[in-house]
Amino acid sequence: MPRPKANAKNMPAFKKAPERRSAKAVPRLLGMKDIVPSEYRYFSAVSNKAASLAELYSFNAIKTPAIESADLYKKSTRHNNDKELYSLDCEKGENGVLRPELTQGILRAYIENNFSELPQPVRLYSIGSVFRKEKMQTGRYRESNQFNLEVIGEDKPMAEALLIAAAYNFFQDLQANFQIQINSLGKADCRKEYIGKLNSFYKERGRRSKLCNNCKKYLGKNMMALLDCKEDACQHLLHEAPQIADCLSDESRNHFAKVLEYLDELGIPYNFNPYLVRGLSYYNDTVFEFWPLNDEGVASSKLALAGGGRYDNLVESLGGRPTPSVGLAIGLERVVAKVKDRLTLPNFKEEVIFLAQLGDQAKIKSLILFEELRRAGFNVRQSFSTDSLKNQMEEATRLNAKVSLILGKKEVMDETIMLRDMESGVQETVAFKKIKDKLEKKVNRKEGVIYG
Ligand code: AMP
Repeated sequence: MPRPKANAKNMPAFKKAPERRSAKAVPRLLGMKDIVPSEYRYFSAVSNKAASLAELYSFNAIKTPAIESADLYKKSTRHNNDKELYSLDCEKGENGVLRPELTQGILRAYIENNFSELPQPVRLYSIGSVFRKEKMQTGRYRESNQFNLEVIGEDKPMAEALLIAAAYNFFQDLQANFQIQINSLGKADCRKEYIGKLNSFYKERGRRSKLCNNCKKYLGKNMMALLDCKEDACQHLLHEAPQIADCLSDESRNHFAKVLEYLDELGIPYNFNPYLVRGLSYYNDTVFEFWPLNDEGVASSKLALAGGGRYDNLVESLGGRPTPSVGLAIGLERVVAKVKDRLTLPNFKEEVIFLAQLGDQAKIKSLILFEELRRAGFNVRQSFSTDSLKNQMEEATRLNAKVSLILGKKEVMDETIMLRDMESGVQETVAFKKIKDKLEKKVNRKEGVIYG
């Protein structure tokens, strides 16, 4: 079989093969996406970056189930109205759904594990997939992966500033071009007044007929959803619509002013967007999104990279104590698509150590060495699928290994190992005990950070 050619980034070329599916081949479901190896390395670089940044900002990791009770999402009208939930057959009496967001599961875990007894706020982060029966569109999947940050139990505007700063630095590090959109939705009273104004505005002659069919259905029922619509016609009408800023209470106005003041102090640019509402009904006061900028520097809401806001009543509505909180969700697929071309992945050429072995005894010994080197932070590779030295050396070349370590019967007996410099081809015999010291001088160790 011809060996796959290495591409520029030393990865096997997982090229899209011409369609050769038999009629019996089972296809991917609509809205689902494979993250193939050539893309997975970007996906994992972005996820690792997300996790290390979260730890740096003192967030603790949490993993919650992908299946949760449908009751958790009752307070989030978008997921109810749009019928975007995947329902599941669970145990008798249990109404399960695939989670459409991470936040509610994290809050359920906060309540269930009595995290309210811990010093507040509790900062949690999570990375996992979410499932939504979305309308099919580019960059919109039915299963996608999110990176969430939640600051639970904090009413001060500093919480929003901290979350926005964390996400801002995440995108800056990845060299993404983006713009922060920010608005305040105030409290329930402000929104009631605002919804009244919106109702009057859209009822005015001629406006109703310009709305998309979906928005026509929301009229009078979920007026805020109209502001969130991405259809051009609805976006167009928006520019004349009343602004919620005019309905904010003094308390909400002051809170929002403080958030903006902190962002200014941190040197974080933002765009005050009076029509940003986010589609979820549980937010109050601050809401924000990170929109990608195109090559002309124009921001677009269509493929938002991240979104979040304050949800002071959600924990209580899920059965917990009153717990003001703020959260943020970053869409990993969209981030990867945006930054892929700019992401510098590690140059494996300098780092890879290839471990080749001949014979059973050597295999056992090389497995032990493999673990030892891996734990010491070396990027060590081994071919577990072939015993032929020729094939193993070909694999080492394909991986652009800096050195190969060859362990045969003789080396096992002598307690040595053969070290081959893959660039010069020079080989030397090294005492087994000294191999780690030798490699430390010769090869760069992986430092845990795998993005550029
Ligand atoms: P949301 O809470 O709906 O704003 O989602 C948070 C982030 O997840 C968004 O800003 C997007 O980056 C991403 N996202 C949301 N829905 C999808 C989807 N259907 N497919 C891919 N990414 C999505």
